Amino acid sequence: MPAHLVCFEKACRKRYPVTEVIYNCPSCGGLLEVAYSEWTLDPERLKRVFRERRMSNAPLEQSGVWRYRELIPFLDDFGNVVTLREGNTPLLESPKAAAYGGLKNIAFKHQGFNPTGSFKDNGMTCGASQAIRLGMRRVACVSTGNTSASMSAYASAAGLQPIVFVPHGNIALGKLAQALEYGALTLQVEANFDQILALVRTLAERLGIYLLNSINPFRIEGQKSIAIEMMDQRDWRPPDWVVLPGGNLGNVSALGKAFRELRDLGFIPRLPRLAVIQAEGAAPFYRFMKAPRPGGFEPERRPETLATAIRIGAPVSWPKAWHEIEQSNGVVEQVSEEEIADAKAQIGRAGIGCEPASAATLAGIRKLTAAGVIDQEADVVAVLTGNLLKDPDYVHRYHTGQLKAADGRPVRGRFANKPVVVANDPDRIVELLSE
Ligand SMILES: *Cc1c(COP(=O)(O)O)cnc(C)c1O
Ligand SMILES: [Zn+2]
Repeated sequence: MPAHLVCFEKACRKRYPVTEVIYNCPSCGGLLEVAYSEWTLDPERLKRVFRERRMSNAPLEQSGVWRYRELIPFLDDFGNVVTLREGNTPLLESPKAAAYGGLKNIAFKHQGFNPTGSFKDNGMTCGASQAIRLGMRRVACVSTGNTSASMSAYASAAGLQPIVFVPHGNIALGKLAQALEYGALTLQVEANFDQILALVRTLAERLGIYLLNSINPFRIEGQKSIAIEMMDQRDWRPPDWVVLPGGNLGNVSALGKAFRELRDLGFIPRLPRLAVIQAEGAAPFYRFMKAPRPGGFEPERRPETLATAIRIGAPVSWPKAWHEIEQSNGVVEQVSEEEIADAKAQIGRAGIGCEPASAATLAGIRKLTAAGVIDQEADVVAVLTGNLLKDPDYVHRYHTGQLKAADGRPVRGRFANKPVVVANDPDRIVELLSE
């Protein structure tokens, strides 16, 4: 089943070889996606094969991405794969968090269990493997955090040189720490995300660097495995809703594509509805979907949210995301800084924990159940995109009442859990613990 790149624009739909180094359609500038011709599979046989592979010690079978390689078949030589055993993330249930969200039940698909702590690893294993296939020696990305952490790890594991461009002063410390530790040449540029992206695109060609930004269609192919593994874990029963945060909108594009392909290939009977949640200060897609029209996309010039992973003003994958919301009869919602912070603390108290952007899911679910959009009996999976320890500064500020929005306004948490300072006095401690 030959793989190729195809332009996402309906009016163009030009095809290109999968080995061409292009990031947008050379003809019209549209987004590219990976497509497969003559693609038929035997779902019942493959469902058994996927299960059997879980018992294997072979690296490819231990990966929660490559175990499903028949559903992401763009490589012709698996010798090019670089894997850190990504994926394999749990579905965690929590009646307590469900109640906070206005639901009977909820399951969190926790992508923070990945090797570098976010879902970016599901995609990066594919992006980095494609870079090796293309014979590239250096890879680069512009990133507000998790992409740079993930790319650095996969590039270094594969013997490629990682180059990370970050907007100066706008990154959670845990993520910058990872890029440095994984050996990336890290350039903090005094410009915003979009300016740096334009710069890097001209440099990439001049210097022979492969770009692993979020429009990279091979990363999107890898992120499909989040949906595929979720279905495998649920014995191929699609939920009513899959809820995820939206920044650049690559992930909703990937999950939507995965569910459609699984349905078309006969693995699942129907699509779940997708709900994308944005932060109020960075919600251009939310506003667009109130009155969608072709080309009518208005970027947010000054995106602001403490959930830095979704602090995106001009989401590159919006045409794909729009398509997936339409196809799945989905919705887009926005939530405030307080709603994100409190939902995050609730996910923490359920013993699960996640980074701020991830908690937008539960905050959005709470709003959507209150509005009657999501039924309280509904079968809901929320995707927690990143690990709690990505942004410890945020956590500490929340619990000590010091969290402030970008404009200096305090973000008041309802579930602060302040550390208690106590003298070295047993009687006092006994007194405290008996309160
Ligand atoms: C990248 C990222 C997002 C945003 O995903 P998009 O695909 O850009 O919409 C959300 N949460 C976390 C933790 C991320 O790393
Ligand atoms: Zn095109």
